[in-house]
Amino acid sequence: MAARDSYKHAREAMVENQIIARGITDTRVLAAMRSIPRHAFVPEKFASEAYDDHPLPVGAGQTISQPYIVALMTSRLLLSGKEKVLEIGTGSGYQAAILAMLAGEVHSVERIPELAESAQKTLKELGIKNVFVYTADGSLGWPDAAPYDRIIVTAAAPAVPKELTEQLKQGGRLIIPVGERWNQMLEEWERTDAGLEKRDVLPVVFVPLLGEKGWKE
Ligand code: SAH
Repeated sequence: MAARDSYKHAREAMVENQIIARGITDTRVLAAMRSIPRHAFVPEKFASEAYDDHPLPVGAGQTISQPYIVALMTSRLLLSGKEKVLEIGTGSGYQAAILAMLAGEVHSVERIPELAESAQKTLKELGIKNVFVYTADGSLGWPDAAPYDRIIVTAAAPAVPKELTEQLKQGGRLIIPVGERWNQMLEEWERTDAGLEKRDVLPVVFVPLLGEKGWKE
């Protein structure tokens, strides 16, 4: 038992000290964060740091977000269980795994093939079947499975690509870091009957969204 999940206590401490302590109360989000083994998504040499209060490298110059940021973005999506979610920036697949527990299906787009493959492998090993990973430029969204109830972008954009808001259902929500290359505002967009509404959530630092509607390489 201990050998199977020796990080259970570290994960519980992460939820208590980093997530609940900062005001996240959504019990479904907390349950998902308690359940998904974050150490399985980071390179082995960082496994012992997987539950620490900071982002970690996942290879190819990319990072897995700080646990609190994953919890915050997830809770802002207000998922009830049936939603079709689009994620841009699969990275390690950790955020996708959290979403998979809370929504109906997750479509996740990653531009770096090695990361997409490795994320797919980890998700499969954990028996997670409702995440679909694609290698493509997600700055254009993923039209094949559109429209979505929710869209989450885990890389920073210079502006919100109109392709993303166009792929959002009526009543749908989008969360995305927008701003300068190394300094952004986490923005929450909602498609209401009156049109698109925007709220600022928190200043953040994400790796850049590279691509046609992102930053140039
Ligand atoms: N959600 C991830 C962290 C993502 S880091 C996790 O849980 O681990 C941001 C990711 O966005 C990186 O993997 C990067 O390669 C990817 N990315 C950047 N620009 C992209 C684009 N245009 N389309 C798809 N993925 C992109």
